[in-house]
Amino acid sequence: MTELAEAPAEGRDGAVTRIPHWIGGKRVDGTSGRSGPVYNPATGTQSGAVDLASVEEIDAAVRNAAEAWETWRTVSLAKRAELFFRIRELFHAHREDLAKLLTAEHGKVLSDAMGEVARGLEVIEYACGIPTLIKGEFSEQASTGIDVYSIRQPLGVVAGITPFNFPAMVPMWMWAPAVACGNCFLLKPSEKDPSASLLTAELLKEAGLPDGVFNVVHGDKVAVDALLEHPGVAAVSFVGSTPIARYIYETGTKHGKRIQALGGAKNHMIVLPDADVEMAADAAVSAGYGSAGERCMAVSVLVAVGDVADPLVEAIKQRLPKVKVGDGMQPDSEMGPLVTREHRDKVASYIASGSDQGAKIVADGRETAPDGDGFFLGVSLLDNVTTEMDAYRDEIFGPVLSVVRAASYDEAIGLVNDNPYGNGVALFTRDGGVARQFQFDVAAGMVGINVPIPVPVAYYSFGGWKASLFGDSHAYGPESIHFYTRGKVVTSRWPDPATSKVDLGFPQTR
Ligand code: NAD
Repeated sequence: MTELAEAPAEGRDGAVTRIPHWIGGKRVDGTSGRSGPVYNPATGTQSGAVDLASVEEIDAAVRNAAEAWETWRTVSLAKRAELFFRIRELFHAHREDLAKLLTAEHGKVLSDAMGEVARGLEVIEYACGIPTLIKGEFSEQASTGIDVYSIRQPLGVVAGITPFNFPAMVPMWMWAPAVACGNCFLLKPSEKDPSASLLTAELLKEAGLPDGVFNVVHGDKVAVDALLEHPGVAAVSFVGSTPIARYIYETGTKHGKRIQALGGAKNHMIVLPDADVEMAADAAVSAGYGSAGERCMAVSVLVAVGDVADPLVEAIKQRLPKVKVGDGMQPDSEMGPLVTREHRDKVASYIASGSDQGAKIVADGRETAPDGDGFFLGVSLLDNVTTEMDAYRDEIFGPVLSVVRAASYDEAIGLVNDNPYGNGVALFTRDGGVARQFQFDVAAGMVGINVPIPVPVAYYSFGGWKASLFGDSHAYGPESIHFYTRGKVVTSRWPDPATSKVDLGFPQTR
C-alpha cells in the first residue's frame, strides 16, 4: 500500500524531514530500512519520509509499554485527573501548532484543522472526569453480611490504528480515554500525515505523562499485522476504510483481542419538500465540500424529495463558484487539496464515470482546480444520480456531491436503509412528526435533524451501523470507558470466625 521513499530519509537534502517513532518517551529512529513518503498536498512536493516499523520494532515497543504499565496502572485517579487537566491546557495552548501540521500534511484549510483540534480537545476534557467515569457500583448487604461491588480495571497495552483524514482528532478519541483508564497506548497513525502524532507525544511528555505510557509506531501493513498478532496487545481501536476495518476486526478477534473497528461511510442528507431550501443548500455545500469531502461524516448523497429537487440543485449551483479552493495555509482558502495525487485522480474518475453512466454534471471540479502541482480538485455536483452508478455505490471521499431524486419520503428513507453503510444521516424538514418518525426508522448510528454533520459531542459516543462499524463498541464517550476497561465484581464478607462451618450446598443469597 505504501510506496517506498525514493531514497532513505537520511540521504536526502534538508527538504525532506525524517519522521521517526516515539517509544519510551523519546524519538527513536526506525531500523527496518523502510520509509514512506509524506507530501505537502498543496505543492505536491515530498516533505517527509516516515519510518515504517518492522515486526521486531513493534515487539520492542509493546514490551516497553508493558513495562511502563506496571507502574502506570498503580497511579491514582486523582493524579491521572490532575495530569489530564495539564494535558488539556498544553494542547489548548499548542492547538495552532498542531493545526499547522495537519494543514501541511493533510491539506485541509487551517480553520478546519483548528476545528479538528477543538473537537479532539473535547475528548481530552471528557477524560479529565475519569474518577467519575470509571466509578463502580456497590451493594451493601447483598446477602446477610455480604457486600458486592464492581470495579473497572485497565486492559494493559492497547493500540490505535488511525486514518489520514483526522490525524490529531481520531487519535485523541482513542488515547485520551485509553490512557485515562490506566492503559499504555501504542498509536499507529496514518503514514500519509504522521507528524501530528509526534507533536502529540511531545506535548504529553511535557505535561508529565510517564515515559512508555504513550508511544507512536509508524508503519504500514507489516506494523498493523504485528500489532494484531502480538500477544501483549490487549485491544485495538481502528478507524479507517471498511475493507481494512473488516480485516482488523477479523484478524484481531482471531488473536483474542478486543476490537472496535470503525469503517467507511456513504452519508445521505434527505431534503423534504417543506424544508427551507436556502438553509438546506448552505448545509449541503458545507457538509459536502468541507475538508474536501475527506470526512467520514461528509454528506456525499443529497436525496431531494419531490419538487424540492430543482430549486435545491439551483441554490447549490449558485453557491459553488464562490467556494475558494487553494492552499490551506492561505487565510481566504475554504477548501484545500486532496491528500495524495492518486486519491485526487480516483475522486476525479467518479465525475467521469457518473457522466458516462447517465448523471448530469452540474459542476465539474476538474475544470475549476487551481493550477500547479498540488493535489487539487474543484467542487463537483452530479444530478440525476441513481443507485446503480459507481458514484452512488462507492465511498468517493472527495468533493463530489451526488443528487438522487426521490418521489417520496418512503423512497428516500429506503435508500438510506438499503445502503450497506450506516454512519451518519441527516434529514431537513420543518415537520417535527416526520423527523421523529425518521429518527425511529432510520438505520444509521448518527442522525442529524436539520444538522448535516451530526458528530456527537464528547460525552456521547461516536459510531455507525452496518458496514461502518465492526465490533459492538463506539468511539469516545461512555462506550470508550467500557471498551478500555474490564469489569471485576468482588463479593466480600467479614464474618465472625465463630460462625464458620463447612457447607457444600450451592451458595444462595439470603
Ligand atoms: P485506510 O483504511 O486506508 O487506512 C487506515 C489505517 O489502516 C492506516 O493507519 C493505514 O496505515 C492502515 N492500513 C491501510 N491498509 C492496510 C492494510 N492492507 N492492512 C493493514 N492496515 C492497513 O483509511 P484512510 O484512507 O487512511 O482513511 C479514510 C477512510 O477512513 C475512509 O473510508 C473514511 O470513511 C474512514 N473513516 C471513518 C471514520 C469513522 O469514524 N467511521 C472516521 C474517519 C475516517
